[in-house]
Amino acid sequence: MQNKLNSIVQPLLMGPGPSCVSESVYQALAIPTLGHLDPEFIALMDDIKGYIRKLIKTDNQLTVPISGTGSAGMETCFVNLIEQGDKVLVLINGVFGTRMEDVAQRLGAEVDSIKFEWGTPVILDTVRKQLAQKNYDLVAVVHAETSTGVCNPVAEIGKLVIDNGALYLVDCVTSMGGMEVKMDDWNIDALYSGTQKCLSCPPGLSPVSFSDRAVGKLTNRKTKVPNWYLDLSMITQYWSGSARVYHHTAPINMLYGLYQACFSILEEGLENVIKRHNEMHILLVSELKILGLELFVEESVRLPMLNAIKIPNGVDDAGVRSRLLKDCHIEIGGGLGPLAGKIWRIGLMGETAKKENIQRLMDALKTMLR
Ligand code: PLP
Repeated sequence: MQNKLNSIVQPLLMGPGPSCVSESVYQALAIPTLGHLDPEFIALMDDIKGYIRKLIKTDNQLTVPISGTGSAGMETCFVNLIEQGDKVLVLINGVFGTRMEDVAQRLGAEVDSIKFEWGTPVILDTVRKQLAQKNYDLVAVVHAETSTGVCNPVAEIGKLVIDNGALYLVDCVTSMGGMEVKMDDWNIDALYSGTQKCLSCPPGLSPVSFSDRAVGKLTNRKTKVPNWYLDLSMITQYWSGSARVYHHTAPINMLYGLYQACFSILEEGLENVIKRHNEMHILLVSELKILGLELFVEESVRLPMLNAIKIPNGVDDAGVRSRLLKDCHIEIGGGLGPLAGKIWRIGLMGETAKKENIQRLMDALKTMLR
């Protein structure tokens, strides 16, 4: 019997996620599995909650990693905070805003969406006008739109949402651990992220945090949370308190990985990590310029960790990407939806955001585009 795992060659992951995983995280994943109610494991869980709070700058008690990828975090926020008929406003400028709209609609919410051009940010004036017209139960937006490379003005939207009375939900899947996220200062009530982007952990967990207002909404629900697995009122009984109550068997080794990933960021210093992402972004942009490649997004609203590049006319999108992977073991992403065939997405997330990786990609692209 041939074991296919033995032939896997580690690619350089420079796409929209997953990103490169550090040796220390791989080692953490291989640490012997403890029982999910073992006091030693519970002590690790408490540290993980504290580390997440530090990375998103919050004091929220309800801060836990959900078992599942970023979309499970998205779903967790909606299923716990929305009841049938609730009024929800979703601000959309890419794939992940569109996914939020879909999730809210499936829960029977009354969903209004404002659609902005992909590749441009949410326009504050448009949001202000909408919020002046109607009161919402929840307003949702993506911080770092991975599908386009655009950063949305999350802090400024937060100021507008305060006056409306709505809860404010922000997707920080791609921003957490790579750029500033100030949950409390920005008036965010619910936030979710994912492990496979700037945390540089394999996919599988989704850090989620709820403000006291969000917890209030959860505890005063008229109806049960419609999803058993993601019901935070039960999950929190496992993640807090002196006597832990079994809900589902925690993915122990994935949580070791998350522990180590957060630990490494905090050890390097969050500010230093953010600075490294910015510096690597600037380096990448200048190197791309030398190759005659242009960015898709206007400079002031570009994400450092997700760079959308215009594919030059006449260049075979899929051909270049598949040769990069096959011949050079480098993965970059293509465009999604209306941007398919028009952009490449180069990720500089977490462990990937290093000079030597940029150099390796540039050398490969130089040969390929010649
Ligand atoms: N939100 C954003 C901004 C993302 O980039 C992604 C994944 O790329 C998701 C949500 C969904 O996360 P996952 O694919 O881990 O379920």
